Amino acid sequence: MAVDIPARARVVIVGGGVIGCSVAYHLTKLGWDDVVLLERKQLTSGTTWHAAGLIGQLRQSINMTQLARYTAELYRGLEAETGQATGYRQCGSISLATTVGRMEELRRNASMAKVFGLRVDVVTRGEIRALYPLASLDDVIGGIHIPSDGYANAVDITQALAKGARSRGARIYQDLAVTAIHRDGRRVTGVQTTNGRIDADYVVMCGGMWTRNLAASVGVTVPLHACEHYYVLFKDVPGLNPDLPVLRDYDHCSYFKYDAGKLLVGAFEPHARPWGMNGIADDFSFGEIAGDFSHFEPVLLDAMRRVPALEQAGIQKFFCGPESFTPDVRYHLGESAELANCFVAAGLNSIGLQSAGGIGKVVSEWIRDGHPPVDLWEVDVRRAMPFQINRKYLQARVSESLGLLYATHWPFRQYESARGVRKSALHDRLAAIGACFGEAFGWERPNWYAPRGGRAEYEYSYGRQNWFDSSAREHRAVRDGVGLFDQSSFAKFRLEGADSVTTLNRVCANDVDVPVGKIVYTQWLNERGGIEADLTVTRLSETAYLIVTGAETEVRDFHWLSRHIDNDARCVLTNVTSGMGVLSLMGPKARELLQSLTPDDVSDRAFPFATSRVIELGLALVRASRITYVGELGWELYIPTEFMLGVYDELAAAGTSSGLVHAGYHALNSLRMEKAYRHWGHDITDEDTPLEAGLGFAVKMEKSGGFIGRDALLKQQQSNLTKRLVQFKLKSPEPLLYHNEPIWQGDAIVGCIRSGMYGHTLGAAVGLGYVTAREGQTAATIGPDEYEIEIAGIRYPATASLKPMYDAANERIKR
Ligand SMILES: Cc1cc2nc3c(=O)[nH]c(=O)nc-3n(C[C@H](O)[C@H](O)[C@H](O)COP(=O)(O)OP(=O)(O)OC[C@H]3O[C@@H](n4cnc5c(N)ncnc54)[C@H](O)[C@@H]3O)c2cc1C
Repeated sequence: MAVDIPARARVVIVGGGVIGCSVAYHLTKLGWDDVVLLERKQLTSGTTWHAAGLIGQLRQSINMTQLARYTAELYRGLEAETGQATGYRQCGSISLATTVGRMEELRRNASMAKVFGLRVDVVTRGEIRALYPLASLDDVIGGIHIPSDGYANAVDITQALAKGARSRGARIYQDLAVTAIHRDGRRVTGVQTTNGRIDADYVVMCGGMWTRNLAASVGVTVPLHACEHYYVLFKDVPGLNPDLPVLRDYDHCSYFKYDAGKLLVGAFEPHARPWGMNGIADDFSFGEIAGDFSHFEPVLLDAMRRVPALEQAGIQKFFCGPESFTPDVRYHLGESAELANCFVAAGLNSIGLQSAGGIGKVVSEWIRDGHPPVDLWEVDVRRAMPFQINRKYLQARVSESLGLLYATHWPFRQYESARGVRKSALHDRLAAIGACFGEAFGWERPNWYAPRGGRAEYEYSYGRQNWFDSSAREHRAVRDGVGLFDQSSFAKFRLEGADSVTTLNRVCANDVDVPVGKIVYTQWLNERGGIEADLTVTRLSETAYLIVTGAETEVRDFHWLSRHIDNDARCVLTNVTSGMGVLSLMGPKARELLQSLTPDDVSDRAFPFATSRVIELGLALVRASRITYVGELGWELYIPTEFMLGVYDELAAAGTSSGLVHAGYHALNSLRMEKAYRHWGHDITDEDTPLEAGLGFAVKMEKSGGFIGRDALLKQQQSNLTKRLVQFKLKSPEPLLYHNEPIWQGDAIVGCIRSGMYGHTLGAAVGLGYVTAREGQTAATIGPDEYEIEIAGIRYPATASLKPMYDAANERIKR
C-alpha cells in the first residue's frame, strides 16, 4: 500500500544504511528536524547488515583518525542515549607486524596518534602473547595495541542512529526508492520516488554501491564499484572470550573478531573480485553472494596458522557480501562540484561502520555551514575526475583497492592497476629514456628517471628507496645546470570576456588587474579566509586570462570559479587542460638553452620574472611563462598538444650540448620543499589562511572592490596568529620525513609535519608544518626555537625557519 510522503523537506537523504542513518541522526542533533530518509528496501539491507563490526580508530592521516575516533566515542554512549542495544564492546585491538617495513609503519602511525592524544602502545611479541593467547606469534616482530578500539553490531548501531533521528523529528520511509534527482540549473531541487516527488533544499546521496549510477544520472561524479568481501565464522573455538581484542594480521590479509560466541575471520586479499559488473538487481536486499571459496582459501590457511585453535573449531558460515570501493581507497564526502546542495557520503571501502559517526557529523555541519568543519580534502568528492566513473576503469582499479587496506602503505607507492589512462604527448619518448611514471588523477607523470641500463621500477621501503640517487642527480642538475620537467598534467582554464577582470579579481586575493603579459601568483579564499586554491593567473589580453593549477584540483578549482561567476557576467570559463602540454625548463642554464632555440630576446631585461608571452621555439609558437616552482631561473612552456613532440625534440637535441637533464616529480618536490613553496592540499588547505601560511605577500588588502575572504583576513591581521607554517630541517642527514610526524617543543607537541621530502642541497630531510603559538608568542617569534620531530617513536632535533632555507632573497630566480 502506497504511503503518504511529504511534498517537500529541507533535506532528503537517499539510503538507509549506517551512513544515511548517521547523517539523519546528526542533522537532527543540529536541530534540523525537517529531514526525510528514503530507503528502497529495509534499513541496513544493502551492505551494512553484514559488516563484521570492527570499530578501529587509527587511520593513515590525522583528520581521518579524528573522524573514526569520534565514531567510537559516539557508539560508546549510543545505547544509553537511545535505549537501543548496540553490541558495542571496548575490547581493544592489536595489529601485528611480521616485516621490518610494517613495524616502521605501525611505529610511525603510533607517533602520529600522539598529535591528538589517541593512546597507541607499541608492543612486543611477549606483550601481544599476554593480550592474545590464542595467537601463534613466532614470525611476529611486534605490533601496536589500541586499548580504546572495539566492536559493535552494525544492524543495531544503524537502528540506534535511526531511532535517535526519529526521536528528534526525522521521517524514515522504507520500501521507497529514489528513481531520479531533480535539478534546476546548477542546483538540486528534490527527488523523484516510486511514490511521487519530494522537493528539497538539500539531497544527500548515501546509497552505498548504488550511488555511482544515481549520481551519474544528474551529471555528478561519484566513482565507486562493488567488490566481493569475505569472512568465515568459526564455532566452538577453544579459549574464545568476548574481551579478546580484535586482531589484525595485515601481512597475511586477515582480521579476527569475537562475534556472538564465534570467531569471525575476515580477509583483505591483494586481488579482490569486482562484483555487480552488469548492474545490481532491483530485488537485491539482505543479499549474499555465492563467492568463490578457493579465492578466500589462501587467507584462511594463513589465518589457521595464526590462530591454531581454529583447526579444532568448526566452520559455521562462509560469507561473501558486496561493498563499494573507490579508485584511491578513500571515501567520497561533501557537496558535489557539479550540483549545488547535492551532497555525497558513499564509497566506504569496508570501513563504513567505523567511519559513520564522524561522517554523519561532518556532513551535517557542512550542510548547515556551507563548508566542511575541518580540512577533508583527502575524501572530498570534488577530487574525483569525470573519467573515473568509467566502469572498465573502476573494475580494474577496485580489485586493487580492497587489498590496499591491509597492504603496507609505503611512501610513494604507486597503483598497479588501471594505468595509462591520461598520457602526455611525450609519454613514449620519456619512457624510452628511463622515466619511471607515477599516477596522479589518471595522469602518468615521470617521477624519476632510471640511469641508462637501470630498471624504471620502484623498490619500496621507509628508508632511501632505489630512486634516491637518480632523483638527487636530477635535483642537482636543476640547481647547477638545467633540467626539463614534463608538467602537462597542470590543469589549465581560460576565462574570457568583458567581465573577466572584475569576476577574477573578486575571487583572487592578489590583484589580477595587471598589464597584459603579467603572471600573478594568488590564492582563492573562502569567507573564513581559508585557502581554497593556490594557482597562477596570467593576463593574456584585456579580456582574457589563463589560470593554471595543480592536476589534483582540476575539478574543484574549475567549479569554484564557475560558481563565482554571476549569472549576468559577460565571461566564459573553459577547461583547456587537454589542449596544452607544459614543459618546464628550470635551472641557471635555462636561459642559455632557451635562447639557442628562439629569435626572441629572453634576457632578464626583455623577459623579466613573472611575465609571459608567446615566443617562437623551433618551428612552433609557444607561450613562455617566466615562473618557477623549484626556486631557480626558468620558464614554463605552454605548448599546443600537437606541437609538443616537435618542440620537445628540438629542446632535447639542443640540450645535449648544454647538459640538459630530464627531471621528475620527486626532484620537483625536493626542490620546492627547500624553497618552502607551499603545496595546496598539504601545506595549505581551506582551514589555513594566507597569513598563517606566510603568504601575506600575495594578498592585496587594499585593491578596489575587495575580494572573498578579505574581512576574515583583516580581522585576523588585527589579532595575534595562533598558528604559523614553519619550515624544518632535521639536524641529522639520515632520517626521512613524509607527513604527519609530530613536532615537539620541549615537552609539548605543537604541531605536525604537513609535507616532507629529502632536500639534496640542504643535505637533510625538510618538512613544512604548522606550529601552534604558545602563550606570549607571536608569529614572528615562532620560528627560531628549539624543535624536535618524532619519527617512528624517536625524536630528532630540527632547525626551524620562517624564511625559506634556500635562497630567501630570491636572487637565483631573478637573475
Ligand atoms: C563482509 C563485510 C564486512 C565488513 N566489515 C566491516 C567492519 O568490520 N567495520 C566497518 O567499519 N565496516 C565494515 N564493512 C563495511 C561496511 O559494512 C560498509 O562500509 C557500510 O555498511 C556502508 O554503509 P552505507 O550506508 O554506505 O551503504 P549501505 O549499507 O549499502 O546502505 C545504502 C543503502 O542505500 C539504499 N539505496 C540505494 N539506492 C537507493 C535509492 N535509489 N533509493 C533509496 N534507497 C537506496 C540501499 O538499499 C542501501 O540500504 C564490511 C563490509 C563487508 C561487505
